[in-house]
Amino acid sequence: MSELQELYASMGISRDVYEYGSKILEKLEERYKSIDAVAEYNQLKVIRAMQEAKVSEACLLGTTGYGYNDLGRDTLEEVYARVFHTEDALVRPQITCGTHALALALMSNLRPGDEILSPVGKPYDTLEEVIGIRPSRGSLAEYNISYRQVDLLPDGSFDYEGIKNSINDRTRLVTIQRSKGYQTRPTLSVDRIGELIAFVKDIKPDVICMVDNCYGEFVEVREPSDVGADMVVGSLIKNPGGGLAPIGGYIAGTRECVENAACRLTSPGLAKEVGASLGVLKDFYQGFFLAPTVTASALKAAIFAANLYEPLGFAVIPDSNETRHDIIQAITFGNPEAVIAFCQGIQAGAPVDSHVTPEPWDMPGYDAKVIMAAGAFVSGSSIELSADGPIKPPYAVYFQGGLTWHHAKFGILKSLQALVDKGLVSIP
Ligand SMILES: *Cc1c(COP(=O)(O)O)cnc(C)c1O
Repeated sequence: MSELQELYASMGISRDVYEYGSKILEKLEERYKSIDAVAEYNQLKVIRAMQEAKVSEACLLGTTGYGYNDLGRDTLEEVYARVFHTEDALVRPQITCGTHALALALMSNLRPGDEILSPVGKPYDTLEEVIGIRPSRGSLAEYNISYRQVDLLPDGSFDYEGIKNSINDRTRLVTIQRSKGYQTRPTLSVDRIGELIAFVKDIKPDVICMVDNCYGEFVEVREPSDVGADMVVGSLIKNPGGGLAPIGGYIAGTRECVENAACRLTSPGLAKEVGASLGVLKDFYQGFFLAPTVTASALKAAIFAANLYEPLGFAVIPDSNETRHDIIQAITFGNPEAVIAFCQGIQAGAPVDSHVTPEPWDMPGYDAKVIMAAGAFVSGSSIELSADGPIKPPYAVYFQGGLTWHHAKFGILKSLQALVDKGLVSIP
């Protein structure tokens, strides 16, 4: 045994599991090279933006109180705008999460009587209450903003005819979710998003095209804002926070869209001028700097898991060979014991809380018990190696993240080891 293999063994990875993992990894070298090439491009993109915006040591300090003339905050927003190639950006700790960023972008850019169109099917769960698809206090529906949806066709393509027929006088904003989230539809590539935006703008040029960019940042060398999106919106507790941002969301887009969002986040008249950054700026900058390589680690993790579990007879989405457009991996186990063992294995490999054993529980808002593995530095962070599994058929786990590839590899091997130890799978 090599020294490395001995260390793995002392941390609970058997020789069989280690060697099976190594064999799988040999086949992934070429794909990992292309992931590294994307990360290299995006790393340079971020560094160039930081240099051009003249990020200085003083930018890393925060402000308190009203936060007038917050140099670090204003410069960070310039960095985001430069990376996303947009006129402006709003990047704030006062935006509490991805849902909040999306709700802010919608509520600030729509007026009573307007209509939203989602041409890519049902949006992310939490947006149902924002829009009012599920009745909810304060939803857009309560402000007389209506919603229309056109589903993808069964083969995953756009229903262009249906989209055309749904665009009307009231249509003011088209919302496009890049990642499949926790659905089974395909994730959209930046190219496909560009085609969709071009189609929509051809019919109605002044419509606002917003992209929910969650989990998609830095997966490709281009972002949806490079192919016509008026606004890209996301969470700093995912890819662009690089694992360091302790809170936050962003909206990058046209000057007008961002100004509307700022007026809603703070107040009409105050807009971007207030909002103290407190002590988070250094982590925002450093996290954004690390984000391209962190995203690459998470991608390698997702591909490793797909390739590790697929030959063992489990359905994986995306499959072992598919091109990736986000960092989420689903694995269908078909029985609750395996879902639990998988999540407990991921937890046992974590840097934080590895000694606790997650159990399924009745989470608010879910119709079945859910088990979650999250040994994270930032609570609930899903750019860190994490997994959750609803305890109901088809007994699938959704798994994502990994701040470093080597941690992700270890965590995934721990998950497989947990299944092996419980006799739920045998290594070929
Ligand atoms: C995570 C996510 C959101 C919501 O972000 P939160 O930070 O969990 O509120 C919205 N859309 C997509 C596609 C997501 O993945």
